[in-house]
Amino acid sequence: MRARQAARGGGPCTVELAGRRCPRPAEHTLSVRGVLFRLCSACHLMTTQYLLDQHVPATEIGAVPSPAVSQTPRAQPAGPARPGVGPARPTQLLIVEDDEMVRVALQHTLTRFGYTVLAEGTGRAGLRSAYLQRPDLVLLDVMLPDTDGFEVLRRLRTVSDVPVIFLTARSDSVDAVVGLTSGADDYITKPCQPREIIARIERVLHRYRAAERRHDDIYDDGLLRLDSEQHQAWAAGSLLPLSTTEFRILDHLVRRAGTVQHFTTLLQAGWNTPAPSARDRVKFTISRLRSKLDATPAGGASIVSVRGIGYLYRSPTTPSPSPSPQYTPTPAGYSHTHTLHTP
Ligand SMILES: [Zn+2]
Repeated sequence: MRARQAARGGGPCTVELAGRRCPRPAEHTLSVRGVLFRLCSACHLMTTQYLLDQHVPATEIGAVPSPAVSQTPRAQPAGPARPGVGPARPTQLLIVEDDEMVRVALQHTLTRFGYTVLAEGTGRAGLRSAYLQRPDLVLLDVMLPDTDGFEVLRRLRTVSDVPVIFLTARSDSVDAVVGLTSGADDYITKPCQPREIIARIERVLHRYRAAERRHDDIYDDGLLRLDSEQHQAWAAGSLLPLSTTEFRILDHLVRRAGTVQHFTTLLQAGWNTPAPSARDRVKFTISRLRSKLDATPAGGASIVSVRGIGYLYRSPTTPSPSPSPQYTPTPAGYSHTHTLHTP
């Protein structure tokens, strides 16, 4: 398949398949790494699926409204001020829920509270929508007709780190634990009061935005210090000799200290290719990181493995059953015991 770069405002679909130009008119504009393509609905669907399957990060994809659509301004919901949201742009939520009654009710409630709400009824459509529309948060039903929510989340995590809250009709705690350890940020058991749903959405968004802001700054937990711009890391003041990949993995882990990072997200962070078969790369890099940290007061054990899922970084402030070893810095220069005695 080959898509020619779109001429601005052009009419026909720009996809060529086996030398034949697609005869349908373009209805969508898709930007891929900054290049615009005008596509018919069928080619748009096919192209999106292809990019998803290739794990092209959602940040490199953009759905550009077609000229006909962009002339119609998006209806702005009237009503009370958005809870905890700045004036920059409305917070966009995506609901993936097959039960139409629940979906419509949720969409209505959340729109009334000032959110822009997208809604999809299947896992497949939800995944595409999350990929193309890049919502700020996804509410994902666990039980879906085509694929279950866990699988949708697993696939979503290979292309995006959008916060996700699971919607579950079951109070089964096993499901919740599986969901949270597979990369969801929270879960809501249906039915749920609007006030409770909004409180949880805002809590997750707040946590996520705080993490985003921290990302711009230097990370420092008193033991490890990371400078993401310079790609340098220090443990108790000593520079760690890290490769680029080792730095990326450590950076990803420490900035999400205390939360389990899945193999696929680590592959994405370290290599930009979350092929699930490449877990050994992660394991190898983690073992190198641990041995380098072992030579410092941080210790290799600060990276904890979670069997079959991934790893987490335990910062000095992360609650843990075993107290972390106390570090006493060595004073620089000579102490009195090193004073040279002259006869
Ligand atoms: Zn086409």
